[in-house]
Amino acid sequence: MISSHGQCHCGNISLDIQYPETIHSFTAGVCRCQFCRMHGAMWLGLPISQLQVQAELASQAHFYDDDLLGVRYLLCRHCGVLTSVFSEIENQTYAMVNAGVVNLPTHIKTDVFQYGPYPNLAGRLQIRKESWLSTVKFSRELDRLLKREEQMAQAQQDG
Ligand SMILES: [Zn+2]
Ligand SMILES: [Zn+2]
Repeated sequence: MISSHGQCHCGNISLDIQYPETIHSFTAGVCRCQFCRMHGAMWLGLPISQLQVQAELASQAHFYDDDLLGVRYLLCRHCGVLTSVFSEIENQTYAMVNAGVVNLPTHIKTDVFQYGPYPNLAGRLQIRKESWLSTVKFSRELDRLLKREEQMAQAQQDG
């Protein structure tokens, strides 16, 4: 396995991807949804790799939910960098990583493509299952933050 490390600009959020040595290229998708366009995000996904996410200070990390698309972005509150995106499907977490955040070894090529035209939500979930990182681990602090933000969102919905 090869490990590639990435972090936000201030270093608070770190991402580690592990993938087999036989991988020589990644695909990076340019998403045209409004949020990604605003960030100029380009997403790396690879189903057989693993992702580990941690924050030195979870209080300086923020999960932003796009409920319409059923995704959750992880941003650093301190430096503002958009690091990764997650989707919870049938109790499994799938993820993609912002390509600009990860340092890939020079022998790895990145093929850039444009997403779209977008299928309906069921089609999108299928694409996520097939092409996003499928083994995701959050540090304990981020896990706690995630649960807390979920509870807060629920409380707001309940009025
Ligand atoms: Zn940061
Ligand atoms: Zn998007």
